[in-house]
Amino acid sequence: MRKIAIYGKGGIGKSTTTQNTVAGLAEMGKKIMVVGCDPKADSTRLLLGGLAQTSVLDTLREEGEDVDLETIRKVGFGDILCVESGGPEPGVGCAGRGIITAINMLESLGAYEESEGIDYAFYDVLGDVVCGGFAMPMRQGKAKEIYIVCSGEMMAMYAANNICKAIVKFAEGGGIRLAGIICNSRKVENEEEMIQAFAEKLGTHMIHFVPRDNMVQQAEIHRKTVIEFEPEHAQADEYRALAKKIDANEKFIIPTPLEMQDLEKLIIEYGIGG
Ligand code: ADP
Ligand code: MG
Repeated sequence: MRKIAIYGKGGIGKSTTTQNTVAGLAEMGKKIMVVGCDPKADSTRLLLGGLAQTSVLDTLREEGEDVDLETIRKVGFGDILCVESGGPEPGVGCAGRGIITAINMLESLGAYEESEGIDYAFYDVLGDVVCGGFAMPMRQGKAKEIYIVCSGEMMAMYAANNICKAIVKFAEGGGIRLAGIICNSRKVENEEEMIQAFAEKLGTHMIHFVPRDNMVQQAEIHRKTVIEFEPEHAQADEYRALAKKIDANEKFIIPTPLEMQDLEKLIIEYGIGG
């Protein structure tokens, strides 16, 4: 089983990209589990058709330790298994610890057993790694392969660079590796070239350039991925292409984060100055 975590700045498109990509992998016949690691618990909405998912932490709070897998794991589009870790009560508790509690619970309930036949576990992890809690999935080796969703906007690149610093920190102890940058376009000038150059400097590759398209939001309003809502649309093919590339990817590296001044130089060179 490949264990993949998707990181990136809040609002960059992690949940959208993850769900559309796993829909593509499901079409290829892969068996997938998605674990939402965001207290917002919106990582599986497009796969479940908006069905309110009871989060693992809520279930634990309401029903105690005696939980069964069916309560916390719902079956969505393409037979994708959907879990939301949920979050701590606002203002108390560490969200990162909640994520680990949820993953440990899944492990003890046998969700990762060989017999489950899962090819891919995807973790859709909230935002920036400023708080150590959100580094938990990589820190504890729960996810081995990290993809960062990024755009040509400076703050997104800054967050991506910071996430790379966290990967470096945890790569030594565990086996975690950076597997690529997914460029989710914000229609910034020279975006594709800039993110390609950025990825190269990090020692990785831009695995795919996902165009910005209103069809993504249209499908979202109908609580569906583009692949389900409008399978013939060009945007659906973009996600299928990304799914194929992830399936074939073997470029797993320890990144080389940029110094702040080098990051700024890159942005000036390609973006503002380009
Ligand atoms: P995150 O999970 O990183 O916080 P989301 O996946 O929730 O971000 O995406 C934020 C918003 O951006 C969503 O409303 C989504 O519809 C939109 N979005 C994401 N990717 C695209 C895209 N390629 N084209 C158009 N809209 C997009
Ligand atoms: Mg999200």
